[in-house]
Amino acid sequence: MHCGRLRGNSRNRPFSFKMVIDFHAHFYPEKVAAKALAVCAARIPAWSDGTRSGLEASMREAGIDLAVGLTVVNAPGNSTNINAWAVRENRRPLIMTGGIHPDEPEPLRTIETVAAAGLPGIKVHPEYQHFRFDEERLFPVWERCEELGLFVVTHAGWDAMFDSPCRGTPEKLAEFHRRFPGVKLILAHLGGLAMWDDVEKYLTGLPVYLDLAMASPDYIEADRLLRIIRAHGAGRILFGTDSPWYGQKEQLGFIRSLPLSPAEQEQIFHRNAAELLRLP
Ligand SMILES: [Zn+2]
Repeated sequence: MHCGRLRGNSRNRPFSFKMVIDFHAHFYPEKVAAKALAVCAARIPAWSDGTRSGLEASMREAGIDLAVGLTVVNAPGNSTNINAWAVRENRRPLIMTGGIHPDEPEPLRTIETVAAAGLPGIKVHPEYQHFRFDEERLFPVWERCEELGLFVVTHAGWDAMFDSPCRGTPEKLAEFHRRFPGVKLILAHLGGLAMWDDVEKYLTGLPVYLDLAMASPDYIEADRLLRIIRAHGAGRILFGTDSPWYGQKEQLGFIRSLPLSPAEQEQIFHRNAAELLRLP
């Protein structure tokens, strides 16, 4: 375990804390990784091969010590298998989330299994899984997550793979937070990919976490990103890359190039994630 030094980038001083955590990464089982990447290739090209070993190699190259592997259940009948896979893969340097599918027959049972297996949270995706956060049929799901202390990570905003209208807008996500203020909510993509006006209007300052996946130069200017981080407070911002859909080294370099204080860097790259993951 190295000490958070970003190799190969002399512009940035070494970190003064022990561990850089990427809160938003993906990989796929060996057998399906190539296919998963090929399906998306026309709209969004990949930066690694989509396997666990590819992710770990990318982390070593970037100087990232720990990553959260976000798992999305792709069909109602697949949650048992996908969560069992996540539990098997839940070993350093990766910490896995579990998942539910909103249309599965017993999502509460699935959530209990995820919690009992020691996974820290679940990931959901309103576009990919075709649901809305204001659907009453799912309220017990969020209540159970709160009771069991599982965080809920959700995709937020536009997604290259899906056409509008978008279900997970900053406005809708703010509404969801107000309905379930006790749920530890983590909004990917800074609360709403490519919907930055609405992020600033509806989300900044609310007690929800925003991750930095895809908050990269292709999607947001550095000035605006810094303004959102400061308006929201670095205490609820999580470093994330969306690997393999963006480069970990590139995203780490971009966020490190922002004029953040050492204390803000420590929160964003390490402390906030460590607290959510209950690391010692
Ligand atoms: Zn992602």
